[in-house]
Amino acid sequence: MTDCLFCRMVAGEIPADVVHQTDRVLAFRDINPQAPTHVLVIPKEHHATVGALVEADPVLLSDVVAAAHAVARQEGLVSGEGAEPGYRLVTNTGPHGGQTVDHLHLHVLGGRGLGWPPG
Ligand code: AMP
Ligand code: ZN
Repeated sequence: MTDCLFCRMVAGEIPADVVHQTDRVLAFRDINPQAPTHVLVIPKEHHATVGALVEADPVLLSDVVAAAHAVARQEGLVSGEGAEPGYRLVTNTGPHGGQTVDHLHLHVLGGRGLGWPPG
């Protein structure tokens, strides 16, 4: 059995509030939301970081980004062809990036003005 939290969520061993999935990608609400919409989008297969995934399977990374955009549409963060009101995609890598779960995930954040730059 894996000790990776997100692999265990994919396996159904730990509950996830799933909002979207495909055969290769899972999207679920963050347990500690930082914005009105805060969804995590992951490949079902384990890859540690965005860099690892783009080297191993760039098509799967594209699928993850497409799923993040589908979630943004579903959550009303964008409509039609537009970018209004908008959203943010974040992926953290390593300790300086603030990565706490070593299974690549995109954060989809929206529902309020997020400001820039981040802290
Ligand atoms: P990061 O710090 O970029 O690695 O993000 C990890 C994210 O996973 C954080 O925003 C956590 O709130 C979130 N998280 C941790 N455990 C769970 C869980 N069981 N269900 C949903 N989200 C979680
Ligand atoms: Zn994993």
